[in-house]
Amino acid sequence: MTSLTVQQKLEILADAAKYDASCASSGAKRAGNGKGIGHSDGEGICHSYTPDGRCISLLKLLLTNYCTYDCVFCVNRVSSDIRRARFTPDEIVTLTLDFYKRNYIEGLFLSSGIIQSPDYTMEMLLQVAKTLRTVHHFGGYIHIKAIPGCAQRLVDEVGLYADRLSANIELPTQNDLVQLAPEKKTAVIETTMTQIHDRKLEAEEDRTRFHSAPKFAPAGQSTQMVVGATPSTDREIIARASGLYTSFKLKRVYYTGFSPYPEADTRLPLKASPLIREHRLYQADWLMRHYGFDAEEITTPDAPELDLAVDPKLAWAKRHPEFFPVDVNAAPRETLLRVPGLGYKNVDRILSIRKYHRLGLEDLRKLHVRLKDATAYMIAADHLPAATPLNLFAAPSDMAIAPLATVTRDAAVPLPPRQMGLFEAAARSAMWGSL
Ligand code: SF4
Repeated sequence: MTSLTVQQKLEILADAAKYDASCASSGAKRAGNGKGIGHSDGEGICHSYTPDGRCISLLKLLLTNYCTYDCVFCVNRVSSDIRRARFTPDEIVTLTLDFYKRNYIEGLFLSSGIIQSPDYTMEMLLQVAKTLRTVHHFGGYIHIKAIPGCAQRLVDEVGLYADRLSANIELPTQNDLVQLAPEKKTAVIETTMTQIHDRKLEAEEDRTRFHSAPKFAPAGQSTQMVVGATPSTDREIIARASGLYTSFKLKRVYYTGFSPYPEADTRLPLKASPLIREHRLYQADWLMRHYGFDAEEITTPDAPELDLAVDPKLAWAKRHPEFFPVDVNAAPRETLLRVPGLGYKNVDRILSIRKYHRLGLEDLRKLHVRLKDATAYMIAADHLPAATPLNLFAAPSDMAIAPLATVTRDAAVPLPPRQMGLFEAAARSAMWGSL
């Protein structure tokens, strides 16, 4: 291992780091063909988003791909027959500065296999971040992997130098960990997440009193979950992610579809998890973070897997015809957010435009609303959706109220008059957004 050049180590350890998606550039598989430029399937430099929305390039490395743990799904596990390499902290510092000065990168993402102990490994990672910040006054972005089980003092210190920290939850349930990562314990991982969360809260409180108090991991913490390596359902995965967002105020949960590798353990599936499943999980994750959906609404106990053919918001809308159509010119924000094809930014634009203008389809088209999905679920100034399968005045199903009228694309067709129920008006006004 010691005879390897820095270049050789870089090849091995940048390649090994590509399996960690928690700095976000997973999902793309576009191998370069040698004729054009670019290769999204490679390794070494990945892209990430800073809290202010900038997309930046990060040097993505492992300190070492040696690991004393034997997580069955991981190519770096102790029993894996792969080439091993290990950087010294100084080598990583030099590489980061060299790449930064050549304008190849704007920051560093650094993770590691666990060598000797969690404390020892965390000390090495800390040394890199501390040297970059205090010796070289490096102002770029630094994302450091927090090693679960390391001492609180190390977490406290590394957060002073890193912009973001992440401790990987690895698998959705403790039972999954018992099966495939026996050395990892949910309680230990969550303790590290709690330490980061609590220390960050303390630092923010300190800064409200003393502006010069140091920041702690200002870009927050994230985590990564491998999906498809165990039979855990999407419902369990989404519930787990929701719990993590609530308990630890995570910025992001990253989902990585399991990919099989040669001579893998027989407990692992032979087929890779489909990329579309990862994509649907990210969509479900956005529904929770930006669209006000609860985890248990996104799937049902009877159908706990996400529909791979339909995005989860559209799937929810199809299961809840009683909620639609929604009037874009009157409905409140939380109702508009449920309309398929309406993104949360467009909802905010609609809310500000409709103060002085009733929006029609052409207005929505100019806002780049996905009308193909949206028109069946919404009412605009010049648009009513087709009658089937939607009832304009349909009440929530638990109210069991007969419809007052059905609507065709051209005109409302009145039904025979009848006495209104006590709650009908409320139900109807909710549909029109005037509650
Ligand atoms: S601890 Fe991390 S690097 Fe080590 S085997 Fe498990 S997943 Fe892989």
